[in-house]
Amino acid sequence: MKEVNRMGRIPESVIEEIKHAVDIVEIIGRSVKLKSAGRNYLGLCPFHNEKTPSFTISPDKGIFHCFGCGEGGDVISFVMKHRNMSYPEAIRFLAQEAGIRIEGDAESDKSFERRKRFYEINSLAGRYYFSELYQSAEALAYLKRRGISPNTAKKFGLGYAPRDWDGLLKAMEKEKVAPEELATLGLVIANKQKGYFDRFRHRIMFPILNRSGKIIGFGGRALGDDPAKYLNSPESELFHKGQHLYALNFLENKEMKILLVEGYMDVISLHQHDLPFAVASLGTALTQEQAILLAKYKKEIYICYDSDKAGILAAKRAIEVFREIDCTPQIMRLEQGMDPDDFIRHYGKEAFQKAMDNALLPVEFELSLNKEGLNFNLPKDRILYLEKAKRLFIKINRKLIRDEYIKRFAKEMDLDEETFKNEVESLMGRKVRKNIPMRKKERKRELKAGLEEDVLRYAMESRAIFDKIKGYFTQDILKKDEAMELADFITCLYDEKDRQKINMDEIIEHYRLRGEMSAIIDSIARKREREKGVPEKAVDEMIMRFNRAVLEGKKQHLLCEIELLSDAQMEEEEKKRLMKELLTKMHQLDIELKI
Ligand SMILES: [Zn+2]
Repeated sequence: MKEVNRMGRIPESVIEEIKHAVDIVEIIGRSVKLKSAGRNYLGLCPFHNEKTPSFTISPDKGIFHCFGCGEGGDVISFVMKHRNMSYPEAIRFLAQEAGIRIEGDAESDKSFERRKRFYEINSLAGRYYFSELYQSAEALAYLKRRGISPNTAKKFGLGYAPRDWDGLLKAMEKEKVAPEELATLGLVIANKQKGYFDRFRHRIMFPILNRSGKIIGFGGRALGDDPAKYLNSPESELFHKGQHLYALNFLENKEMKILLVEGYMDVISLHQHDLPFAVASLGTALTQEQAILLAKYKKEIYICYDSDKAGILAAKRAIEVFREIDCTPQIMRLEQGMDPDDFIRHYGKEAFQKAMDNALLPVEFELSLNKEGLNFNLPKDRILYLEKAKRLFIKINRKLIRDEYIKRFAKEMDLDEETFKNEVESLMGRKVRKNIPMRKKERKRELKAGLEEDVLRYAMESRAIFDKIKGYFTQDILKKDEAMELADFITCLYDEKDRQKINMDEIIEHYRLRGEMSAIIDSIARKREREKGVPEKAVDEMIMRFNRAVLEGKKQHLLCEIELLSDAQMEEEEKKRLMKELLTKMHQLDIELKI
């Protein structure tokens, strides 16, 4: 109780700031494997045992809910339940995640100071390694051999950890850093017999920075014959391998691309060749959290892994991780046995960009892999390839795209397109039938959501209709982000003076790589095909529907306010008065809605 009172002093605005600063998907995604489902995410509930997912997160609303056991709430209640924390503990935990200091809260001050100290120590260690680099002819020679310029080395803060067992220990002693502190960050290792000794020895050092440019850990590459070629800092309070990417701190807004590679050296080499959007995961396979993080930038994602067996396997896994969150990367294939660093040093920037232009979509990539080693003169090989291709095509949810692939594939393999398409679809039919209850539910939801699609479909039909209805491109009508985005794009297209209508193909082409847009675009395309044209009367009817939807929106707002008010802690008389006001408004709305 005392705790709660003490926390009661934390202004509501700070709690709001914290909730705003943390990402509920990121926080929950650390412990629950998530799948994208439209605007929401779906996963197996961490609070009860289940085999099919009924746990949902709505990032827009900032809440989670489990339809299986009924657990639900905001990010704070998730942390409380999942980590078994009290309310103040959860607030402090999230504040720390967001790097927000809760003024006047002793606990928060303490943890803030501790982290500040850790960053300071990492920065001192980074400076030590950096200065050691220029003392070591061997380390400098290595960088030179790898083609890394002094400027690039400086940009990435590269350093060298000498061979000594206590080089860092001694240097840090002068800076008044205790061995225990270094051990907490994994920079030194505590040993019962030998005491403390340096973790990184005779290695090129790569400081790993978070997005705000602070060192959270280090990677070290062995210069000698240490069997561990790469060594990373262990997990610590600052360093969580699965949640960061190397060089993400350099990614600028103006870049439209992200290039995901495997190694630190690849990243550095690409940056040096003026491709400053290369990043790498930190010595692990791509995690779901990293994929979510990358997808949030809403840029085109390219995967360029090493062109060997391990690299291809890693790329296939990464594709699956992205697929789960409905994100479509493009995959580059380099010459056999090459990594991005080899490639760009050998062929240069232009050739690399050309390889980016030739990057494959996931299906194309897998088709090209399936083809390897087959001889199409042998019926057996040919049939094997066709069967594998069918199984790839059924994974494509969007009919338009699937049909396009089938068309091209049939042509390439000299097949009858219709027959092949039927075979793919009957294979799908077998899969789909299992899920009929779900499909029915989806269809119902689609009917309700039909208004958004109609608005956009009508707006595309002609400039005259667009002018009539564009005033309704508001959040009340276009509730989905995707619908709003599409409305913006349509408005942009009509900015061209002579433009009279908008073709479906333009929309499809523009959003080709944006998986999250596919549901709404497909549904518009289907309706357009079904109902050719838009009669005048329909437009007027639609405007009436709009007005109604605006009123409905107001009603929803009112209902929320009433709910909030009934939970609010305030004087009873005042509460009654406000409630009466709200109910009167509600009554008026109901009358308007009946007309
Ligand atoms: Zn549950």
